[in-house]
Amino acid sequence: MGSLLDSVPTSGIIRIRDLMFSVERPFRLDQGDVSFDAPGTFKAAMKAAIDANHSHYLQTTGLPRIQELLAEKLRRANAIPVESAGDVLMTSGGVHALYLSCQAMVEPGDEVLIPDPVWPQMLSSLVAAGATPVRAPLHEGLGWRFDLDELASRVTPRTRGIYVNSPGNPAGGMFTRADMGRIAALALEHDLWVIADEAYEDIVFDGREHVSIASLPGMHERTASIFTFSKTYAATGLRIGYLTTGNPAWRARAAKLLGMTINNVSSVVQYGGIGVLEGDQSIVGLFREELQARRDLFYAGIRDAAGHVFNGDPPAGAFYAFLGIDPSWKPPAGAAAASRSWAMAEHLIGKGRIGCVPGIDFGPASEGYVRFCFARDREELEGALGEMKRLFAR
Ligand code: PMP
Repeated sequence: MGSLLDSVPTSGIIRIRDLMFSVERPFRLDQGDVSFDAPGTFKAAMKAAIDANHSHYLQTTGLPRIQELLAEKLRRANAIPVESAGDVLMTSGGVHALYLSCQAMVEPGDEVLIPDPVWPQMLSSLVAAGATPVRAPLHEGLGWRFDLDELASRVTPRTRGIYVNSPGNPAGGMFTRADMGRIAALALEHDLWVIADEAYEDIVFDGREHVSIASLPGMHERTASIFTFSKTYAATGLRIGYLTTGNPAWRARAAKLLGMTINNVSSVVQYGGIGVLEGDQSIVGLFREELQARRDLFYAGIRDAAGHVFNGDPPAGAFYAFLGIDPSWKPPAGAAAASRSWAMAEHLIGKGRIGCVPGIDFGPASEGYVRFCFARDREELEGALGEMKRLFAR
């Protein structure tokens, strides 16, 4: 296992983060973090938990009250047939839930279908569990969705699972109910498991419907459904997420791993989670509306400032602009970057203070793209757009 980690790829997002620290007054459009503050109900409940001395070990899988609230939410909002509150496992963010799922479900050498482009941290978690990831393209012309015949054609006798991420990082595509039905049928036909990464379940635009694949008949038993408070409640640093599956063997394995990795999610944070879940949920809709407005502002700004350099349609969900770099763009003379998308990223960071992530970080097919996060506040977005206008002036 130790040496296996040497083959696990590290994400360029980390290299970018380091680069950004050397930039004065940067526009942090590189990382997937929202500019909002966590809701008052979250903070008040954390403060109360500190004052009540909730600073001791807890049940490994989570406080019963938060499991109960989440089981109810999963049944109501996601239509996932969660049998009992104990079937919900609290994790240290979505990243941890994904890692536990990979460790609980993958056998060495298993082929796992992943979207291309894919969020690199998930690719790493699969490789760390011994999986062989097999890329299946998401097509820009289909709104960054699979061609489902093509997805089916990637199944081999060694395929054991599918990673489904909707809304998706980095391209923001969303699978429709019909898409999910076909992916579920593929899983049932070939006896595949599914990891459903629903980190962006609440960041959906233009009234679209988020569909949880585990809500479809026969799927909860073969799916690990992963959620997080990070995006829904602007709580990326608090590290709280959860997973559920109808498969008791995977649940038992994940619970064992919880005991080995963290024992329990921070007590104070779990009490905060109870506070925010019991509180007024209108904040989730307000965040969504503001993110949609920022999406529109950013795309209008890009068209104006650099429409001859970047192209792409606004995404259906999540909060990233995954933009194609126009073939006419030439890296500045003397640029040392090995790849075109890195050359663009270095240009934007070095000359415009604008953080972004090169497309190649999400897979070799995305070399001609760059990702910007538009969940930053309007002032920061406008600052970045102003710099772009200067940088790409004709
Ligand atoms: N899944 C996807 C696709 C993500 O982009 C992220 C965050 N960048 C996560 C899961 C997990 O986030 P967290 O660990 O903060 O819950």
